[in-house]
Amino acid sequence: MAEHCGHARFVWNLAVEQHSYWKPGRKSAPGFAEQCRQLTEARLEFEWLRNGSIIVQQQALKDFAQAMANFFGTTHRKPTWRKRGRGDGFRIVAVKPGDVRRLSRHVGEVRVPKVGWVRFRWSRAVSGDVKSYRITRDAAGRWHVAFAAVPESIPAPGTGEVVGVDRGVTVSAALSTGGVETVPGLREGEKDRLLRLLRKLARAQRGSNRRGRVKAAVARLKARESDRRKDWVEKTSTRLARAFDVIGVEDLKILDMARSARGTLEMPGTNVRQKAGLNRGVLAAGWGRLVTRLEQKAPGRVVKVSPRFTSQICNACGNRAPENRESQAVFRCRACGHQANADVNAARNIRDIAAGRAVNARGGDPVAGPVNREPQLVLLSG
Ligand SMILES: [Zn+2]
Repeated sequence: MAEHCGHARFVWNLAVEQHSYWKPGRKSAPGFAEQCRQLTEARLEFEWLRNGSIIVQQQALKDFAQAMANFFGTTHRKPTWRKRGRGDGFRIVAVKPGDVRRLSRHVGEVRVPKVGWVRFRWSRAVSGDVKSYRITRDAAGRWHVAFAAVPESIPAPGTGEVVGVDRGVTVSAALSTGGVETVPGLREGEKDRLLRLLRKLARAQRGSNRRGRVKAAVARLKARESDRRKDWVEKTSTRLARAFDVIGVEDLKILDMARSARGTLEMPGTNVRQKAGLNRGVLAAGWGRLVTRLEQKAPGRVVKVSPRFTSQICNACGNRAPENRESQAVFRCRACGHQANADVNAARNIRDIAAGRAVNARGGDPVAGPVNREPQLVLLSG
């Protein structure tokens, strides 16, 4: 399987190299179909490549094509070189019904081309027919198999209730219902340990045994963190899809632009700066996954709204002013004195926009009739 990973990486890196030759004005770099033809030629020429699995190699090209599409869609950065030991993995498609079987409650078996039957721990329910799967090796050296299955959609409760979810600054997610959620990351002690290890890693000599040990310890801690985050995302998305008919979230594409104006996170404690740095990436990753899962579990019930001004508008009276956001945690309206958790106030604005209750422009005509029992929200256009 490590060989499969190597082939996938090799093909991916060739694609990256091909695309690196492209300059504005030249004709476009080869796409997926052309690359597949080239792969066939390369396999004829090189025996070691021919001995590998064509599915693994073709799927690496497909992954690259998807990565380029994401890049042009501006949701992701440009695909870059892959290094051994980082993001190792490969994908198998055209899986037949008999290729995955259950041996006991906790043990399953999957047929991997050129490898044979591989046993795995059956840790999660697999719903529907398996058409493809991906095998990965994480930085801690653990092998994983993930079967592609879009989560089944959860029926709407039918109560007409709308919830707004805000990616908070002081909390991971705030709900318009007033609830705040924190992604369970590493505990304080674990964070301290991680920082110590990272410093050790910076000092350790390249290629030394010590460096290898420290690196593995760092990877184990990070894997623990990512496991907790994924678990939180699954539980939270299911809970929201079950409890609300419509779920309003911020549109990720314009989120970061709007957010940079909010300033930086400050909190008391030790190693605040470094820890805040660790947190930021974690929160971003958890948020994107949460939105994806919500869209899969509640298809057609997720409304993405512009995050612009949601943090500055008073949900009680509609006044918009940057000063309303007194601090990262506290919102206090300069016009009416309404005070709330800043992230919850933002979540309520998101809910109102998602519900179509927003009013267009300060003092302007309502976009939707003001039939709600709550005060109207003033949304400036643009
Ligand atoms: Zn107000």
